[in-house]
Amino acid sequence: MLVHWISVFFLPKRAIHELNSIFRRFLWSGVDLAHKHCPIGWKSICYPNNEGGLAVRDISTMNLAANLRHLWDLKIRKPTLWVEWVHKNKDFWSMKTPSNSSWCWRRILDHREYASKFIFNIVGKGNTIRFWKDNWHPLGILVERFPLSLRYDSTLHINALVSSCINDDTWLIPSHIQPTLTTLIQGIMNTPIDPLEDDEVTWTAGNSGLYTLKDTYEALRPRTQVVYWSKLVWFKHCIPRHCFITWVALHRRLKTKDKLNSWGIDIDITCTLCRISVEDDRHLFFSCEVCFLTGTMRSAGVLLTSMVILLRLA
Ligand SMILES: [Zn+2]
Repeated sequence: MLVHWISVFFLPKRAIHELNSIFRRFLWSGVDLAHKHCPIGWKSICYPNNEGGLAVRDISTMNLAANLRHLWDLKIRKPTLWVEWVHKNKDFWSMKTPSNSSWCWRRILDHREYASKFIFNIVGKGNTIRFWKDNWHPLGILVERFPLSLRYDSTLHINALVSSCINDDTWLIPSHIQPTLTTLIQGIMNTPIDPLEDDEVTWTAGNSGLYTLKDTYEALRPRTQVVYWSKLVWFKHCIPRHCFITWVALHRRLKTKDKLNSWGIDIDITCTLCRISVEDDRHLFFSCEVCFLTGTMRSAGVLLTSMVILLRLA
């Protein structure tokens, strides 16, 4: 149900914040959704397993990725009533945002820039591709690379089509602007054209050339460094509870006494077992003699010790 709604509407930031809050409380408190201290930030949880997260999809990024489908539908002129209605009035890709437009329509128009980065035009006749504004050149959208004055050139004005630079099956760039286009002229000349074929559109987020939510989310999501311990935590037939505890331990966020104290809980931080050292995760798993003598943490310690040895060897 959630996927349906985030595919239909751009959710307000407040709604996304509330959804993330519910997910976060469910993760750390269970079905009662109690407000508890969250040892690991939600942003870190949304990274994939190999980047140290729990592979939870970020709602905000999912919402953007899902709604870019509407812009893809408009670009390929998908035969739907809504697409026909949008194209009936003005050019969607160059129209200004009307002051009286609805919130959803305004958001769709605002995200044309995002969509343009994923849309790549393969030149055929060139009669549906805008020379300056569309992504067809190997180096990207040309309007972002040239002086403003060029966009008002009478031959290649701001909304000029690529076909205005094609004569039969060869490129014909107006000679008076060639000196200014030197840096990109080679890319233009190397772009193949086929006057017998229609222009094609591809979605560059994935390899298929077509829009998919999975590829688009993957292209948009935040990234961080890959962690080398992910395969030690997440593997086939793993026990989720054990994986989760190990994952928290590797983030060094287990609720040991030193952590509870750092979160503002007034508590004696001396190890309950040996009464010698501060109780933190490294002490409990690797150096507390009472732990190992009594076997309390032996199996967990052996596991984590093995993991550390493997990590050091990696
Ligand atoms: Zn101890």
